[in-house]
Amino acid sequence: MKKYSVFSLARNALDYHENWTEAWRSPEPKPEYDVIIVGGGGHGLATAYYLAKEHGITNVAVIEKGWLGGGNVARNTTIVRSNYQLEGNAFFYEKGMDLWRSMSQDLNYNVMFSSRGVINLAHNDAQVDAFQRRGNTMRLNGIDAEWLTVAEIKKRAPLLNTENMRYPVYGGLCQPKGGTARHDAVAWGYARAADDRGVDMIQNCEVTGMRIENGKILGVETTKGFIGAKKVGVAVAGHSSQVFQMAGMRLPMETHVLQAMVSEPIKPALDTVITSGAAHCYISQSDKGEMVFGGDIDFYNSYAQRGNYPIIEHVVTAMCELFPAFSRLRLMRTWGGVMDMSMDGTPIIDKTPIDSLYINAGWCYGGFKATPASGWCFAHTIAQDQPHDLNSAFRLNRFETGHTLDEKGVGSTPNMH
Ligand SMILES: Cc1cc2nc3c(=O)[nH]c(=O)nc-3n(C[C@H](O)[C@H](O)[C@H](O)COP(=O)(O)OP(=O)(O)OC[C@H]3O[C@@H](n4cnc5c(N)ncnc54)[C@H](O)[C@@H]3O)c2cc1C
Repeated sequence: MKKYSVFSLARNALDYHENWTEAWRSPEPKPEYDVIIVGGGGHGLATAYYLAKEHGITNVAVIEKGWLGGGNVARNTTIVRSNYQLEGNAFFYEKGMDLWRSMSQDLNYNVMFSSRGVINLAHNDAQVDAFQRRGNTMRLNGIDAEWLTVAEIKKRAPLLNTENMRYPVYGGLCQPKGGTARHDAVAWGYARAADDRGVDMIQNCEVTGMRIENGKILGVETTKGFIGAKKVGVAVAGHSSQVFQMAGMRLPMETHVLQAMVSEPIKPALDTVITSGAAHCYISQSDKGEMVFGGDIDFYNSYAQRGNYPIIEHVVTAMCELFPAFSRLRLMRTWGGVMDMSMDGTPIIDKTPIDSLYINAGWCYGGFKATPASGWCFAHTIAQDQPHDLNSAFRLNRFETGHTLDEKGVGSTPNMH
């Protein structure tokens, strides 16, 4: 693979940028692979990359029904954080933060990771208590957290309305090292780096069935025919229930639509991420200048990648209450993605009862930030045939055994903290 650098940029500029090579190959599938990863989203691509990099397993194919980066990985609002309180979550997401920090250098691809801080606004005394407890636990776990007074928040976000609103701001929990990253660059960076290590990216190839004999998976049926595999890992996010149904499994999970939207681009106006669980809105500014914002799920089951107007109106109203100055902006685009909502709001990275079939699912609305840690842990789980310590709480059978991990006690709607 040709290295991307300032020199290659200069060299290619001399050729009017007409001679860049393709970022990854588009091979025909081989009859058999050591590992097949179903789903070419962030988690599937990261898994393939870490299988090759960390475990030397390179006879790998990523099977994607559409195109790489066509799913949630490029539909999200790009917020990256590790502000969790429970141990089962905290160290997993903090591993992710470590990987985010070095990702551009590791992949030789600029994923535009920006540690601009993530501030969760508290709007009542109970939230102040809960956020401060979480912040203290984070610090005890070695994760960065700071309590900000209203005056300090105003300094960071002068346009934020803190008083003349239904729920005035009482303070905020900030994770200074949290921030944002360029979502589709993450997909392309992992794809390019995995391809460089020999992984095959098979696009426009839908998995339509699983061949299972005597309790062991032998491969997958696809629109390009049967492809054999010693091991199969599934990371299809909102389509998890459908794909695992092919293996006769019913998951503790539902699929819901989550929408987001962007305004027209404006000059720099907000250099941090603001979230408000009480108002149902979170917002940041993209490097292009658009205000990027979203809220809660649409609260009905759907596989459609678009949502309904009342939710857009609700989120826009909340955004205008938080930032009255943005009320004159034109809304440029809205879109939706299909979310794999687990019943306790926590993901699953595990083996399944079917030999050599592995599951990565249940990311709710927070799977983008988990992309590197999820790929890293899923690769370990597949390669070693057992979970890593970091994903040992994300077991499939926790709903049977009662070891659920309900971080905020709000089940499958854990957004905006
Ligand atoms: C509007 C919105 C905002 C969000 N904001 C944030 C945020 O700010 N921070 C955050 O951390 N998370 C956020 N998320 C959540 C995050 O985007 C997801 O949790 C995460 O991207 C899911 O993992 P993925 O990237 O692997 O999924 P995807 O990119 O959806 O990948 C799954 C892939 O599987 C493929 N597939 C499905 N079925 C098959 C099949 N049968 N055969 C082959 N391929 C198949 C799909 O085509 C898809 O490409 C947001 C999501 C949305 C929709």
